Amino acid sequence: MKVLKFGGTSVGSSENINKVIDILENYGKTDAVVCVVSAVGGITDKLLLTGKQAQNKELAYKDTLNLIKDIHFGIINELNLGNGENITKHVDNEFTALEDLLNGIYLINELSPKTSDKLVSFGEKLSSYIIAETMKNRGISAERKNSQDIIITNSNFTRAEVDFKVTNANIQDYFKSASQNITILPGFVSKSKLGEQTTLGRGGSDFTAAIVAAALKVDQLEIWTDVSGMFTTNPKLVKQAYPISKISYQEAMELSHFGAKVLYPPTVQPVLSLGIPIHIKNTMEPEAVGTIISNDVVEEVTPVKGISNISNIALLTLQGSGMVGIPGFSKRLFETLSQEKINIIMITQASSEHSICLGIDDKEAERARVAIDFAFENEIALQKIDPIIVETNLSIIALVGDNMKNHQGISGKMFSTLGKNNINIRAIAQGASEKNISAVIAESDVKKALNTLHEQFFESKTKQLNVFITGVGNVGERLVEQIKQQKKYLKENLKINLRVAGLSNSRKMIFNEEGIDLKNWKTLLDSGETASLKGFFENTKNLNLRNSIFVDVTANADVANLYADYLRQSIGVVACNKIACSSDFKNYKLLKELSLKYNAPYLFETNVGAGLPIIDTLGNLMASGDKVNSIQAVLSGSLNFVFNNFTDETKFYDVVKQAGAEGYTEPDPRIDLSGVDVARKILILARESGVEMNLEDIENASFLSEAGLKSGSVNDFYETLIKDEAHYQSLYASAKANNCQLKYVAQFNDGKASVGLEEIPEGHPFYNLEGSDNIVMFYTQRYPKQPMIIKGAGAGADVTASGLFADIIRIGNN
Ligand code: ADP
Ligand code: ASP
Ligand code: MG
Repeated sequence: MKVLKFGGTSVGSSENINKVIDILENYGKTDAVVCVVSAVGGITDKLLLTGKQAQNKELAYKDTLNLIKDIHFGIINELNLGNGENITKHVDNEFTALEDLLNGIYLINELSPKTSDKLVSFGEKLSSYIIAETMKNRGISAERKNSQDIIITNSNFTRAEVDFKVTNANIQDYFKSASQNITILPGFVSKSKLGEQTTLGRGGSDFTAAIVAAALKVDQLEIWTDVSGMFTTNPKLVKQAYPISKISYQEAMELSHFGAKVLYPPTVQPVLSLGIPIHIKNTMEPEAVGTIISNDVVEEVTPVKGISNISNIALLTLQGSGMVGIPGFSKRLFETLSQEKINIIMITQASSEHSICLGIDDKEAERARVAIDFAFENEIALQKIDPIIVETNLSIIALVGDNMKNHQGISGKMFSTLGKNNINIRAIAQGASEKNISAVIAESDVKKALNTLHEQFFESKTKQLNVFITGVGNVGERLVEQIKQQKKYLKENLKINLRVAGLSNSRKMIFNEEGIDLKNWKTLLDSGETASLKGFFENTKNLNLRNSIFVDVTANADVANLYADYLRQSIGVVACNKIACSSDFKNYKLLKELSLKYNAPYLFETNVGAGLPIIDTLGNLMASGDKVNSIQAVLSGSLNFVFNNFTDETKFYDVVKQAGAEGYTEPDPRIDLSGVDVARKILILARESGVEMNLEDIENASFLSEAGLKSGSVNDFYETLIKDEAHYQSLYASAKANNCQLKYVAQFNDGKASVGLEEIPEGHPFYNLEGSDNIVMFYTQRYPKQPMIIKGAGAGADVTASGLFADIIRIGNN
């Protein structure tokens, strides 16, 4: 004999019911079959809703009732029941009884647990009747038996306890004499010894099936549902979750107790001692292997078997100095909750005994508060303890695995993973058996927590990065294109799953937590919402995705002012914008500190030399204990372009104009020509070498003419270039006479920095610098005479974008 149970979705439509019948018919060819069914999907909730509405005197209860009716008759019609008349009559009678019950509830304004059980029992009674009749109608040897006649409980309504002695005897008796091949039983429903209708608790159809399987000592219990087994974590919240092929009874119990709804927790209990395996299967995908829950020792792939979560948790904290060392507080606390029939889901107590923390269902939080404050009234009045503290909107997440006890460092990994993602842990519990480590976190963090823990324990080879890019002008656009092009490579070779989850230009912004489709990001962005810097931050924060990185591809001070906010949310910052790094030292320092405190990287490689690995190299030198003696560098692509093209045959004005036209200078060329941009760069290098310095500390001997320095507008400035051509020519002539090249050089020496135009003699590494190339020479303790030199293109959209990309990948590899 076989026992199969089909859940709400499996019997939720005529199409699925036909699938169920096919499966049963097939099984019935070789064996007798007992089939336990849930109510049609969603009906139990709707029955409870209509009951609540009637109780609250809301006439809408009639609409809900009609909806329930329509759903059932819709299914009956679609199933084409031949001798429909009798069936319709039976179902009509059931609905008349249901309506009478609801009218009664409406009239007396009350819905007791006892009446509630009567009410919800209609769901399973109807579904089992419809399925059995359909089968009979198709000539299959099937009969329905009302479980209420055989499953006997106490009168603990809504979650009654089974009298196994009587129940087992009833089941065995019934099946001894049953002649049909297939028996359909309604799940969930039962009766008390006094004949009252009771139920086994929400999700209890699984339990009905387990009770029958154990009473009949069958070889296997099959739970057919809408997913292909028990997954590594809730597949509705974590896309990458996958079915566990084999799992122990204890692990399955822990996972289900901590929220894996696919199995009702008490289900394991009746079959466990008999060693009857439970096979979880998918009605919609019968060929999938599913999950076997059994005593079989299973080879462990990972010590963590699954991750689950329970929502709607309230945390109760009893604390006070009067508790320390005095026995009996916990006992009284637990007794109080037990008298109130409030189930405790999790307990933690600090070893100081100063406080006890309990996790309960938040629906019961208010009742718990009143009862506990009453029970400890005296102690509260004497200020020995505080009134109970109740926090809500929490959730428990739990790692489960029989084998976790044999592996060190799992809880460390769990908590550091959560910490890195800025998920605050309110309470922790780990049983001595170490089959379960649980933590209480904010409900709003659950999805992120499950995804990041799943990635850590089950997909350790891939890491998902979620980037939010502001500024998709020239460089930003290249960056998006590079990401699009490299996505596949990164996944396959570096195991990094890089997704652009947010994009913004100055006008519009878009977000997509699944990752923006980069094939047509421009069109999507055009139809996005109106952009704002604060709005971009809020959206990024609220999406609350793991490994989030904000990428600043602007030159905007207001954007730079938001870095601290991002870092405080543990969102990494990657910037080519130099404003923050070259701002006041206090601010630079603060950002560095926030980055450490919140475990959020702050990277700005492209602040100096575009894509050249200058800052990263300097960081590595410093990290390995080297010390910088001096730095000499040519760091301005724009100034290089200007002085490489300026000769006695060209005009300074023309060359500067050309540099502007070719995109080598800022719209206001003075930012480059005045040396401010270079000063910012050497300032950043000095700071990264460990020196406290500000922009004002940098000596800047300008080569511009007096008039050029004093000019008002950009146009005025260009005028001075024409007028002062002789001044610029004299700079060139002097260099030529000395057989030198003009280069704009930045230096850092003995804790001091300067920038200025210099005549570079032949043979010097700067002499032959071409185009917009940059060069940096680091003289350090380890490189005292022969400097470490980094040289190459130091400007341009593509290399800058690739520098940003490299920073993003650096975060991914960490
Ligand atoms: P049924 O009506 O068939 O009893 P349930 O809705 O009670 O189905 O249980 C199946 C659902 O359990 C799945 O659709 C899924 O959303 C949820 N679920 C939560 N955690 C897990 C998990 N670890 N593995 C599989 N399903 C899970
Ligand atoms: N129909 C009941 C519920 O929704 C029992 C079950 O489906 O297992 O809780
Ligand atoms: Mg269920």
